[in-house]
Amino acid sequence: MTDYIFTPPERPSLPVRGLSARFPVRRIFCVGRNYAEHVREMGRDPDRNPPFFFTKPSDALVQNGSTIPYPAATGNLQHEIELVAAIGTAGANISEADALSHVMGYAVGNDLTRRDLQTQARDDGRPWDTGKAFDASAPMTEILRSEEIGHPQSGEIWLDVDGERMQEGDLAQLIWKLDEIVAACSRLWRLEPGDLIMTGTPAGIGPVTAGQTMTGGIAGFPVLTTTIGPAI
Ligand code: MN
Repeated sequence: MTDYIFTPPERPSLPVRGLSARFPVRRIFCVGRNYAEHVREMGRDPDRNPPFFFTKPSDALVQNGSTIPYPAATGNLQHEIELVAAIGTAGANISEADALSHVMGYAVGNDLTRRDLQTQARDDGRPWDTGKAFDASAPMTEILRSEEIGHPQSGEIWLDVDGERMQEGDLAQLIWKLDEIVAACSRLWRLEPGDLIMTGTPAGIGPVTAGQTMTGGIAGFPVLTTTIGPAI
């Protein structure tokens, strides 16, 4: 056993429906601008440019049903409900034809964003880390296994804030489809079991404040519930 100078934290993980063992999370990749209506609301042209990626640290993961503090350094925390692909089999330079065989399952995730910091970084040509990769920025549900549900290509995706519908779309509106996303990601990083890929958000993004509860889902998936507590 390695002797560490302090006890390393337990690996972030997600439950897997129907299994007692959990999915150990390695990295969290995220696709930007992948629903045309959302690209337009962000003031960009939804032409089919190659998908681009940013990341969140694995310890940004938040379990379903949690209350998280309103994050530091922002006045504009926003929700982004997304389908998440969970990689079960390693691979680099994966072909689109092979891509889905590397996905062991799917979850519902919320790509929480400090929009003021992200927009500033974007406009200044700086990295998005402060806007995207902050503490508790990745709430996710349990994983449903591909062998049980297949690979969802369509189905309603939605998010409510305090019961009011904010985001609404359909997985069929993804500009870059699941196989294309996995293949593109694997050309930039060798994908490993435990990697998660957040696939982009539909239109209707908006702010959440302390005391509000977000509920979001995808047809056939459990509802993802996250409450924002007071600021830290
Ligand atoms: Mn997103």
